[in-house]
Amino acid sequence: MRLGEAEFIGAVREPGQAPPTRLPQIAIIGRSNVGKSSLINALLNRKALARVSRTPGRTQEIHFYEVGGRFCLVDLPGYGFAKAPAEVRQRWEPLIQSYLSTSPELMGVILLLDARHGPSKDDRRMLDFLGRLELPTLFVLTKVDKLSRGKRKARMEETRELLEIPEDQLLATSAVTGEGTETLGKSVLAAVDEA
Ligand code: GDP
Repeated sequence: MRLGEAEFIGAVREPGQAPPTRLPQIAIIGRSNVGKSSLINALLNRKALARVSRTPGRTQEIHFYEVGGRFCLVDLPGYGFAKAPAEVRQRWEPLIQSYLSTSPELMGVILLLDARHGPSKDDRRMLDFLGRLELPTLFVLTKVDKLSRGKRKARMEETRELLEIPEDQLLATSAVTGEGTETLGKSVLAAVDEA
């Protein structure tokens, strides 16, 4: 499935700055190094639209990718990278929170979780925040190619129980094999069409 041509259309760098679009938006977020850039590239069928980071936690901008002229995929900065300077960490929380809480065109959020690990403290903070905003959230396990079938199944069940996620709101994906990216694309389009 093709979501349509994707194009970078702009960034938000400061809390309160207006997004460069009025199209419906779907935001994608997760802690640094979760595989967000790789998944965006896999989802949009591009080799390097979103940068696969060498220095995790350093991108403090919200990036907007217009897709097929229909909606925007919004790449939020990765959170929770322990080695980022405190001053840098303090800058991105207000940026993320401001965008998430003041964007009328935001239709939903995709929260990425590394399939190899349970949710971190930062993941839970983000979950609480999303819950308070009552934003529709789709949960996605990344890098499932790194787990055996058995471990993957166990991780899916554990994640669902731990975070109280309904069955149809948790997907398993791999940017390496492409697994799950088609289903994710369909879910994104469905969310946009509901808007
Ligand atoms: P980001 O910081 O969340 O944008 O994460 P990146 O996309 O930069 O990926 C972080 C690291 O994980 C890189 O070394 C990627 O090559 C690797 N990675 C990302 N997605 C996958 C995946 O689906 N499978 C595997 N095996 N590695 C991945």
